[in-house]
Amino acid sequence: MSTLLFAPPTVSTVAVAGEDALYPVNRIFCVGRNYADHAKEMGVEVDREAPFYFLKHAGAIVPSGATIPYPPGTSNYHYEMEFVVAIGAPAWNAPVETALDAVFGYACGLDMTRRDLQLEARAKQRPWDLGKDFEQSAVIAPIVRAASFAAIGPQRITLAVNGAVKQDAHLSDLVWSVEELVSHLSRYYHLVPGDLIYTGTPAGVGPVVAGDRVTGSIDGLPSIELKIGPAEAV
Ligand code: MN
Repeated sequence: MSTLLFAPPTVSTVAVAGEDALYPVNRIFCVGRNYADHAKEMGVEVDREAPFYFLKHAGAIVPSGATIPYPPGTSNYHYEMEFVVAIGAPAWNAPVETALDAVFGYACGLDMTRRDLQLEARAKQRPWDLGKDFEQSAVIAPIVRAASFAAIGPQRITLAVNGAVKQDAHLSDLVWSVEELVSHLSRYYHLVPGDLIYTGTPAGVGPVVAGDRVTGSIDGLPSIELKIGPAEAV
């Protein structure tokens, strides 16, 4: 029997509200431009023909409450408050009508972004990885089971930096609904338990600097908090 050359990375996990068991993370899908007002502030239009995605590696997960260093390679580090869907059952070519059956629960998330690198990649028609899929870029609060969360729509989604509100919208503003996203993704991937979907951010994105405290909330979910520390010494 072969042995591993070195210890594999630890599995990233997310707390489940009120429970001891942890939710192990597989993939992190992120939806682009899923609120019309945010697409507008980014100087683009929402594509209503189909959603589009980028991914983050599971190791990018950071629990709510953490203090993380200002990341390398950027001078325009942004917050994006997001409603996160946690998959809990396999889904493959799931119809919209039954797509929610695959959902384990929901959480508050932050899609932290090196905006300067993302926009440079966008302008050069290159992939967004440097701007989006970097270490400690996927912050998440404890997951609430779907059965304990009301029908998606009226919940308010907000984000504040040092107490000043920057993002304020409702889940009913989502261009692509959760069932549409799960159904659509399941035509391109075999969705499995552990897959997370960050469903996009409302208008009001902006920069943070060392010393800032980011707080976010969605009605019915544990709130999220992130503190930005100084950049690491090179
Ligand atoms: Mn985002």
